[in-house]
Amino acid sequence: MTSTPSSHAVIGAGIAGLACARALAEAGHDVTVFDKARGPGGRMSSRRLEEGAIELGAQSFRAAHPAFRRQVDAWVKAGVAAPWPDALWRLAAGRATRRADGRPRYTGTPRMSAVTRHLARGLTLRAATRIVSLARDGDGDGDGWRLADERGNTHGPFATVSLALPAPQAEGLIAPHAPGLASECRQLPQRACWAAWARLEAPLALPGAEAGWPLLQFDEGPLKRVVRHRTKPGREDAPELITLLADLDWSERRLEDAPDAVAEDLLAALNAALETLRPAAGLPAVQARGAHRWRYAEPGAVAPGDDHRLTDTGLALCGDGWRGGRIEDAWLSGHHLGEALCHRLSDPGDFPT
Ligand SMILES: Cc1cc2nc3c(=O)[nH]c(=O)nc-3n(C[C@H](O)[C@H](O)[C@H](O)COP(=O)(O)OP(=O)(O)OC[C@H]3O[C@@H](n4cnc5c(N)ncnc54)[C@H](O)[C@@H]3O)c2cc1C
Repeated sequence: MTSTPSSHAVIGAGIAGLACARALAEAGHDVTVFDKARGPGGRMSSRRLEEGAIELGAQSFRAAHPAFRRQVDAWVKAGVAAPWPDALWRLAAGRATRRADGRPRYTGTPRMSAVTRHLARGLTLRAATRIVSLARDGDGDGDGWRLADERGNTHGPFATVSLALPAPQAEGLIAPHAPGLASECRQLPQRACWAAWARLEAPLALPGAEAGWPLLQFDEGPLKRVVRHRTKPGREDAPELITLLADLDWSERRLEDAPDAVAEDLLAALNAALETLRPAAGLPAVQARGAHRWRYAEPGAVAPGDDHRLTDTGLALCGDGWRGGRIEDAWLSGHHLGEALCHRLSDPGDFPT
């Protein structure tokens, strides 16, 4: 005799998994979130260096959808997000130009990870737990899902398992149980991106720009974006820490290179770009540097139709690849999955055991 479990698992504590888990928890369901990293955040995490906090992944977000706008307003009220930046600078054809489109952008405060930590508050989070396989009790007609982690521990049973992971990472976990969804995951590759960082001895000047310029975008070359973290709200007293995000094609060509070589080349590219604006206007001395490789940075394709998937056996998928490549998309995908699960769970016959 088996009984139907009443707990739910979410694998992945990025913004999508947390949005899904929150929707479940706020409707009174028991939910456990698993993440292989030491804390929540995923691509929205922040890194604490000796010198201060930096983001090597997402830097800012916009809010167009009314539901996400309401969520962002709540984060601003809670003090974990604030508007930033006022304007972007763009370097093209040897000129830097200022662009202000009037559409507000936000960032986490005092760091991006404040947003995901806020979302994770009150949830049961099993960090540093990489899930390596899923099993259904009773050979497919049992009473729930069990998760195995890389240390050989088993978790569950759970009535539903939501995989809030980049599709290439979800594919292997889901393939034995939902081959159709696994094949959908294969259509959703993720592009790689190198992110270098540096601590500079002096403020980074952009010829022609105000002293507090926050962000510089590039139209060509190995660099895509340079970000100055001390221009983010609440970090004015920090030293000059910058992140250099690389172009995706360049990143993929350099995927297996050593982080130090990548950091050196991206800093050299920034130096050369600054010198095209004004000779001798290069980089201040670099005091420390490093680089991080995101193997799964940005969807190379987005799924058609709904922004999540949910099977009758309680397996589900969400995350940025199911809707679009931004934080707003990932949150909406996870939130909508959470709502869909709550709706199904309101009719207990809906997940056959
Ligand atoms: C360099 C970079 C810059 C970006 N810039 C921006 C930006 O400025 N604005 C914007 O809107 N978006 C930006 N994005 C995109 C944005 O960060 C993502 O769209 C969004 O954060 C994705 O959230 P997610 O929850 O879908 O996935 P993720 O954040 O990737 O979360 C997935 C989680 O699953 C965990 N995980 C994976 N496998 C397992 C496993 N087997 N077991 C347990 N846990 C597992 C991971 O540790 C991770 O925490 C950027 C992304 C990158 C990489």
